[in-house]
Amino acid sequence: MNPYILDIIYLVASVTFVIGLKMLSGPKTARNGNLLAAFGMTAAIAGTIIFHKGEVSGTVYGLIFGAIALGTVVGWLTAKRVQMTKMPELVSLFNGMGGACAALIGLVEFHHNVNNPTNIAVILAGMAIGSISFSGSMIAWAKLNGSLRKAIRLPKYNILNTLILIGITAYAVFIVASGTHDQMHVYLLFALSLVYGVLFVIPIGGADMPVVISLLNSFTGLAAAFGGFLYGNQVMLTGGILVGSAGTLLTLVMCKAMNRPLKNVIFGAFGEGAVAEGGSDSQGTIKEVSPSDLAVQMNYSNKVIIVPGYGLAVAQAQHVVNELEKLLEERGVEVSYAIHPVAGRMPGHMNVLLAESNVEYDKLKEMEDVNPEFNQTDVVLVVGANDVVNPAAKTDPSSPIYGMPILEVENAKTVVVNKRSMNAGYAGIQNELFFRDKTSMLFGDAKKVLSELVTELKNLD
Ligand code: NDP
Repeated sequence: MNPYILDIIYLVASVTFVIGLKMLSGPKTARNGNLLAAFGMTAAIAGTIIFHKGEVSGTVYGLIFGAIALGTVVGWLTAKRVQMTKMPELVSLFNGMGGACAALIGLVEFHHNVNNPTNIAVILAGMAIGSISFSGSMIAWAKLNGSLRKAIRLPKYNILNTLILIGITAYAVFIVASGTHDQMHVYLLFALSLVYGVLFVIPIGGADMPVVISLLNSFTGLAAAFGGFLYGNQVMLTGGILVGSAGTLLTLVMCKAMNRPLKNVIFGAFGEGAVAEGGSDSQGTIKEVSPSDLAVQMNYSNKVIIVPGYGLAVAQAQHVVNELEKLLEERGVEVSYAIHPVAGRMPGHMNVLLAESNVEYDKLKEMEDVNPEFNQTDVVLVVGANDVVNPAAKTDPSSPIYGMPILEVENAKTVVVNKRSMNAGYAGIQNELFFRDKTSMLFGDAKKVLSELVTELKNLD
C-alpha cells in the first residue's frame, strides 16, 4: 500500500473543493461544481476512515458509521423536502451544525492536549468561534423563519457585546497562559461564547440579516480550519479556509450592497442606523392596473425591465416570467432583469431562481449596471420585490434600510408593482413608491397574474 495514499486523496479532495467553488460562481456550472466538491468531501471522509493511521476500536467505528448514517438520512430528507424560499433557513441551520461540530472538537480535545499550549490555543479559538457560530446561526434561523422577527436590543448592547468579546479573548488567553488542566474553564468559555453568539445576532433586525448569515458562514469555516490545524489534517484545513475566506468575501460584498461598514458588523454596532423600525409611514392613494391594460402597455414599449424579488420565489413564477420575456421579445420589446444583491432571502437567490427557468444569464443585470438604464425604460415590472426598490433607503434617515443602495426603478417612465396586498416586505416598512403618480399596482399572486398577463399578450395577436 502506498504510504502516501491518504495524502493523495486529501490533495485530490482539496483540488475538487477549489474547482467546485470556482464552478459555483456561474449558474451553468454551479450544479456540477457542487457535485464535484461533494465527491471530494466523500472521498476525504472515506479515505480518512479507511487509511487512518493508528488503532480504532470496533465501538468507535460503530459510532462513526451510526453518526454518518444518521446525518445522511436527516440531511438528505431535509434537503429534499425544503422549499426554495426556505433555503436560507436551512443554510443557517446547517451552518450552525458545522459550528457545533467545531465546538465539540474543542470540548473533547482539551484534556488530550493540556501539556501543549499551542494546541490548547488552537482548540480554544476553534471552540469559541464554533460556539458563536452555532448559537448565532440558531438565532438567525429563528429570525429567518419568522419566529423571532423583532430586533431585541438590550441597553448599551454594543458596549455589552464588545465587553463580552474582550472577556472571551482574555479568558482564553488566561487558560492557555495558566496551563490549567481544569476542564471547567473550557465549559465556561463554551457557555460565554454561546451567550455572545446570541447577543451578537439578536439586535440585528430588518433587512440586515444577509450580512450576518455570510459572516456566520465564515466563522464556521474558520472554526473548522482550526480543527484541521489541530489534527494536522490538510483537507479539513483547506476546506475550512475556503469556507472562511469565501464567507468573508461574501460578507464584504454584502456589506457593500447593504452599505454597512464591516467594522460595525464586527464590533456589534451593526444596524445602528436602523433603530427606528417602522420607517416612513407613507399615506396616499394607489392606482391599480389590470393584466389586460398592462399587456397593451407592454406591447407598445421599447424597453421593459423586470425586477424580481422574494415574492417571485414564493409564487414560483420564474417559468411564467421567462415566458413573458420571450413573448415580449417576439414583439420587438427589449427585456432584461434587474438583480439586487440582496433580493430574495439568500445571496444569489434571484440568479438561481431565474437560471432554473433557463433565463439567459446575460439578461440579468447587476444593480450598478442597470440603475443608469431606468430613465430610458418604458415599463419596469416589479415582481414580488419591495425593500430593494424602496426609495426611503435614499431619502428617509429614520428608515431601517436607510443607506442601502436600491434599484432606482422610480426613474422609469412607468412602474408596475405586482404583489398580493399592501403588506410590507422583510424590513417591515411601508414603501412610498407604491403611492407615486407613475406607479400602478398589479395585485395578486405573481404566478397567477403573470399567467393572465401572458394570456392577454397572446390575445393581442
Ligand atoms: P421583500 O421581502 O422586501 O418583499 C417581498 C414582497 O413580495 C412582499 O412585500 C410581498 O408582498 C410580496 N409577495 C410575497 N408573496 C408573493 C406572491 N406569491 N406573489 C406576489 N408577491 C408576493 O423582498 P425583496 O426581494 O424586495 O427584498 C429582500 C429583503 O430580504 C431585503 O430586505 C433583504 O435585506 C432581506 N434579506 C435578504 C437576504 C439575502 O441574502 N438575499 C437574506 C435575509 C433577508 P405581499 O405580501 O403584499 O404579496
